[in-house]
Amino acid sequence: MPRLFNFAAGPAMMPEQVLAHARNELLDWNGHGLSVMEMPFTGDVFKEIAATTVSRLSALLGLPPGHRILFMHGGAMAQLALVPLNLASPDTGADYVETGYWSGRAIAEARRYCRVEIAASGEPGGFTHIPPETEWRIRPEAAYCHITTNETANGVQFPATPETGDVPLVADMTSDFLTRPLDVSRYGLLYASAQKNIGPSGLTIVILREDSGGNAHSLTPSVFDYGIQMENDSRYNTPPTFSIYMAGLVFRWIEDQGGLAAMERASEAKSRKLYGLMDSGDFYCCPVAPEARSRVNVCFTLADPALEDAFDTEAAGHGLINLRGHPVFGGFRASLYNAMPEQGVDILAGFMADFARRHG
Ligand SMILES: *Cc1c(COP(=O)(O)O)cnc(C)c1O
Repeated sequence: MPRLFNFAAGPAMMPEQVLAHARNELLDWNGHGLSVMEMPFTGDVFKEIAATTVSRLSALLGLPPGHRILFMHGGAMAQLALVPLNLASPDTGADYVETGYWSGRAIAEARRYCRVEIAASGEPGGFTHIPPETEWRIRPEAAYCHITTNETANGVQFPATPETGDVPLVADMTSDFLTRPLDVSRYGLLYASAQKNIGPSGLTIVILREDSGGNAHSLTPSVFDYGIQMENDSRYNTPPTFSIYMAGLVFRWIEDQGGLAAMERASEAKSRKLYGLMDSGDFYCCPVAPEARSRVNVCFTLADPALEDAFDTEAAGHGLINLRGHPVFGGFRASLYNAMPEQGVDILAGFMADFARRHG
């Protein structure tokens, strides 16, 4: 069976070279006679593997001094709770910018733990744009201002890092982490679960300022306390060891491709092909404002929804799978994470043009 082009929102495709590399050392890592899966997490060999993953990521990002990288469990959804639990006092709380499905989930979860104020919302426009920064109302006493840099379900992406003054900026970057250069110093904290651009699920990367620990709510589980995990180098309990190793291989692959600037060029090129095709006729439509269109999750609908099943079935016949949109938004979504080859997008674009000719 040839490998398929998986356009799922996640878990996503992995770079083929990374999978092949992992296969080659699956039974015996570097002559140690053990698979990485079998290594004690407190042993020197695993510590070296984890340290390599950290140093590769630090190099890719140009990690500024004073920021730390944590490996955590629980996915991005755990972070929706852990950010307020660790950073916000219940009464002053935090401010959130609402741009779609995932920021909505972040807001709902944070409300269980602290006061939440909406600094701005894209809801009046049906979450098809980013509310202009000039209209944001950020409270100076807010513990942080939370954004979702890329809305995976509704295909809206921040074109640039917003300015929040003295209020630390916190971001859910799960779907666009490492798809473009990133100035980490602008963020108090950012997080991304692995299964979109980093590696296998089970690992969540949290990057935070060193001074963000020590204020966790007293009921925060110890394994989810940023301060405790920083003190223990992400080894307070067994970390997702194999996923950490795989992430290290993906980081090296990104480096080999030319780093984050190359990832940005590729994701610009891939998404432009699909948006260009949609804008050149009225068979497909993308509801998102051009300046806020995601380069990673391209959402679109067919002008005639009766053709949806045929589109899906025929696409699968070309090896193009998992194109259905998020259940809340319907339609279709092509997720173009780093490991999606340009060839996959070319085949998709060719299929879409042909489908439109035949059914338009
Ligand atoms: C996928 C996704 C999540 C959920 O991640 P889990 O790892 O399943 O918890 C949260 N936020 C965004 C922006 C996502 O794309």
